[in-house]
Amino acid sequence: MSLEKSYFGITFTIAILLFAIVLSPLLPNLTRGQQQQQLFPFLSPTNTTENQINNDTQNESTTSASGNNNSPSSTNKVVILNFYDNDIGQFTNAKPILDKYGFKGTFFIVCSWASSDNNPSRMNWQQITQLYNEGHDINSHSTSHKVLSKLSADDLDYQVGQSKQCFREHIGAEPTVFSPPHSKGWNNATVIDTIAKYYDLSIGGFVSSPMFLHCYGWKQLQHAPQTDCRTYSDDGELNYANRYDIKESSHNSWDTRYLHDDTQIFEKFVELVNSQTNYNKDGKINAIPIIGYHNIEDDDAITSTHVSLFAAEMKYLHDNGFKVLTMSDLGYDENKNYLYVKNG
Ligand SMILES: [Zn+2]
Repeated sequence: MSLEKSYFGITFTIAILLFAIVLSPLLPNLTRGQQQQQLFPFLSPTNTTENQINNDTQNESTTSASGNNNSPSSTNKVVILNFYDNDIGQFTNAKPILDKYGFKGTFFIVCSWASSDNNPSRMNWQQITQLYNEGHDINSHSTSHKVLSKLSADDLDYQVGQSKQCFREHIGAEPTVFSPPHSKGWNNATVIDTIAKYYDLSIGGFVSSPMFLHCYGWKQLQHAPQTDCRTYSDDGELNYANRYDIKESSHNSWDTRYLHDDTQIFEKFVELVNSQTNYNKDGKINAIPIIGYHNIEDDDAITSTHVSLFAAEMKYLHDNGFKVLTMSDLGYDENKNYLYVKNG
């Protein structure tokens, strides 16, 4: 090696070191940018195929979960994930993804379907008990999934009230939250009065916004003005939103409307979960996106959400500091007639 080359080499090395020192404060930004690309796999114009969604899921499956991010700055962002009808994909496909991030789902169970021995498409009591023992929220979706508004008083009582006993027999605990089947009955006073006899809360109607815990976020939508969540208005009509008609957003309506185009559906998901930031400030939660799923399965059914999409949605919640609550985390203030987040 000649002296000239050596001198050049030393000069070059010093130049590289200086360059690294000057740029080092910017490196975290570069890393964040790379993370951002990871966070929005569907929003990047170069990353929109399902193969890439699957790659993203597989890559992430090798990383360990750090659980819920409960730092104070994250508590303005919460979400509730509801699952209906005991679909087996909730156990085989959704549960491992929820477990990876330490998230707890809220499962609305139909008692008779769980008791059936020969139905591999639905979860049985053994699987549901495991969910319960692992801290997931188990609630009632009736005894056998009838349209409640068409039933006699006795049959209505059986579907709503007796289902509590079914849960007590199988998991040793009674649910406190109900959901009427077929998305029907939540606007029927007879049904609501029966639910109110047995449960603290019920979830029914659909919205494309977060659930407003004071129940008056929708007054601009030409419904009777509400100032709180009491069940009936002063003129004796059911209020649009109340403690027995908590509103959720149907993921399956996106799955159907966008024909399982996961890029579009992911954008709707991101838009919904972030829409609460206009309402929640300084850790005070006033609005919660509640998202309803059925099966988590790759069969393209109208009641199914692709597994890779669900995985990407949960990763988004985790990576962006969302806290996943359950329906049982909601309480009702009998004096103020508001919903609130317990321990929140
Ligand atoms: Zn159902």
